[in-house]
Amino acid sequence: MKFGTKAIHAGVEPDPSTGAIMTPIFQTSTYVQRSPGDHQGYEYSRTHNPTRTALQNNLAALENGKHGICFSSGLGAIDAVIKLFSPGDEIVSTSDLYGGTYRLFTKVFERYGIKFHFVPMDNPEKIEEKINSNTKMLWVETPTNPMMNIIDLELMGKIAKKHGVLLAVDNTFASPYLQNPLNLGADIVMHSVTKYLGGHSDVVMGALILNDDKLAEQLVFIQNACGATPGPQDCFLVLRGIKTLHLRMERHSQNGKTIAAYLKNHPKVEKVYWPGFEDHVNHEIAKKQMRDFGGMISFTLKGNSLADAKKVMEGFKLFALAESLGGVESLCGHPASMTHASIPKEEREKVGLVDSLIRLSVGVEDAEDLKNDLSSALAAI
Ligand SMILES: *Cc1c(COP(=O)(O)O)cnc(C)c1O
Repeated sequence: MKFGTKAIHAGVEPDPSTGAIMTPIFQTSTYVQRSPGDHQGYEYSRTHNPTRTALQNNLAALENGKHGICFSSGLGAIDAVIKLFSPGDEIVSTSDLYGGTYRLFTKVFERYGIKFHFVPMDNPEKIEEKINSNTKMLWVETPTNPMMNIIDLELMGKIAKKHGVLLAVDNTFASPYLQNPLNLGADIVMHSVTKYLGGHSDVVMGALILNDDKLAEQLVFIQNACGATPGPQDCFLVLRGIKTLHLRMERHSQNGKTIAAYLKNHPKVEKVYWPGFEDHVNHEIAKKQMRDFGGMISFTLKGNSLADAKKVMEGFKLFALAESLGGVESLCGHPASMTHASIPKEEREKVGLVDSLIRLSVGVEDAEDLKNDLSSALAAI
């Protein structure tokens, strides 16, 4: 099946007891047994729930994987991956990383004796320098947040294979529609389902998708043993959201292209970061591994004034100033004071994350209205 058909049908069967075409919300914690141990595959909803099963199978199909495993948040999913490891194990991670992931690695798991190395992943030598006999995994995020750098996943897969370590990819920014890391050599794909997969800013959830049976068995064990599982109502909402994932991603990408081009020609804009531009540093890699370039854009203002950036964000009528991304509605964020505030200013500026940098999650509204919103907000400075 092609992507759009899988989005609607994979893992989803009409309910056998009623014929209901949509997967019911099995709002139950437990299941009756005819006699001890004689049940229909469901015993307790932390372990299994039919609504969650449908979603997990659907997510697996979207990433061309065999196993889908859902968690109560994206960070819950990452937490489960790191619990595969033991004190003394080491992980090499992208340095340009989602703030919450960085916090989980350094503030929680370092206390349990797991060691993390953070390196820019544009240079294989820099990665290999950090790999030793204790290294168990590479953790990669691409496109990166908020600089929209692209990391070559096929190359990462080769490095991981060569050294016998796992490759895990946080595929949240691309969504399974734009990029499928398992096809490029990844062992584990992680999603903050909260973002494009849910797509309507009404659910917090995470997921892991993989092919290896043994690894899946370990992660399903952790899912049940540690217990960060999502409820059936949330699983239903995500199943519903996914039915239009391909349509939304096409529109996000189309609007992204229009808005990126508009900003690039705007006299008050200094720089626009969007991987679809031919002069983007990693455009060739993006073209190779992504179906399209999406609606995530960052840009800076001429003069690089924080006051100007604030004025622009306060002036928006459509782009709502809020954390998160990937919903149908357009959002804007200010990484220097929001998601990346904990990183020292000099460190931030080294990678281009300056005070006037504004990040847009371009939604699926009419592009003309979004352009007008940018135009009037930028006219105020
Ligand atoms: C939001 C996000 C996460 C964390 O997911 P939650 O669902 O908020 O726990 C991880 N990685 C990336 C890239 C994200 O954008």
